[in-house]
Amino acid sequence: MWMRASLVGMTDPMPIGKRQAQSITMARMSAVEATIFNLQKFSTEDGPGIRTTVFFKGCPMRCPWCHNPESQSFSPEVVWHGGRCLGDRGCLKVCPEDALQVADGRMVLNRQRCTGCGDCVAYCPASALEMHGQRLPVRAIFEMVARDAAFYAASGGGVTLSGGEPLAQPAAAIALLEMLREAGIHTALDTCAAAPDSVLGAALAHTDLVLLDVKTTDPKRHLEYTGLPFDRVARAVDRINATGIPVWVRTPVIPGYTDDEANIRDVALFVAERLKHCERHDLLAFSNLCESKYAQLDRPFPLAGAPLLNPATMAHLCAVALQAGSRHVHWSGPMRVAEGLWS
Ligand code: SF4
Ligand code: SF4
Repeated sequence: MWMRASLVGMTDPMPIGKRQAQSITMARMSAVEATIFNLQKFSTEDGPGIRTTVFFKGCPMRCPWCHNPESQSFSPEVVWHGGRCLGDRGCLKVCPEDALQVADGRMVLNRQRCTGCGDCVAYCPASALEMHGQRLPVRAIFEMVARDAAFYAASGGGVTLSGGEPLAQPAAAIALLEMLREAGIHTALDTCAAAPDSVLGAALAHTDLVLLDVKTTDPKRHLEYTGLPFDRVARAVDRINATGIPVWVRTPVIPGYTDDEANIRDVALFVAERLKHCERHDLLAFSNLCESKYAQLDRPFPLAGAPLLNPATMAHLCAVALQAGSRHVHWSGPMRVAEGLWS
């Protein structure tokens, strides 16, 4: 509320017409809601300094290696933590849709029946049922993240919108960016950039840093892996260039998909030739730590059994990217245990 107060202060030199217009805009923005599935404080991976990352639920892409499967659906999803369950079966009685059953000692959720009402989660005395995804007013999200403004200021950090794809909830993402910008908080937008031009343009108007996913530049592979054409990403790059906003490119390095030298070289060439304000290029090694999350959502992990990469491979791919023109190339991610090395 402190930000609102500053807008209506007695000494506010803003002309009345503009102030009223701004109040109307702020009131409209306050009414917007977002579905988020996580709010990660003290994050150091999603931009400079100490940050809070707001994870928006829902993504238009379907990358088989997605390490946040709970981010893909736009709807809230219930998961069951067997290790916490008391076995009293009270949740079965409170479910109005008869969507819960116990079979072979496991809770089985009929996801076709489940409406995401949350009654079972609210009832469960052991927190064994959890809802991935919560619909909140953007104003409430802003107030939660703005509490750490002092940490952001001291560390050169801020707030990152991630997901999922934040721009797939355009009104909410733009409103949150605008509120943060008005409060003087640094904003980063982690995006696959497949949004319509008007949405991207409106979001960029309140963005200080873009974290841009470039998985492959091969149109056939991009469509096959993500379900969306690469030219949407390429068009977004032109729009981002025009703003002058700095960009950190992120390339997932996935065994059998994007880890070949040719792919990394092509992505680095694209970055060097097309992205005018790229500050760094991160190669993110494949992680299988998400496998249990797929199981909780009753989905198979498409990359189950795929090997983790090793430091030598990642170092080599960094060298390939540097040689092709990317600057400030870094890698990170879990490494093969057998080699005794972890990043
Ligand atoms: S209410 Fe919670 S603890 Fe009880 S059976 Fe259901 S999930 Fe398990
Ligand atoms: S969220 Fe609602 S509909 Fe879904 S399982 Fe729980 S009680 Fe049933």
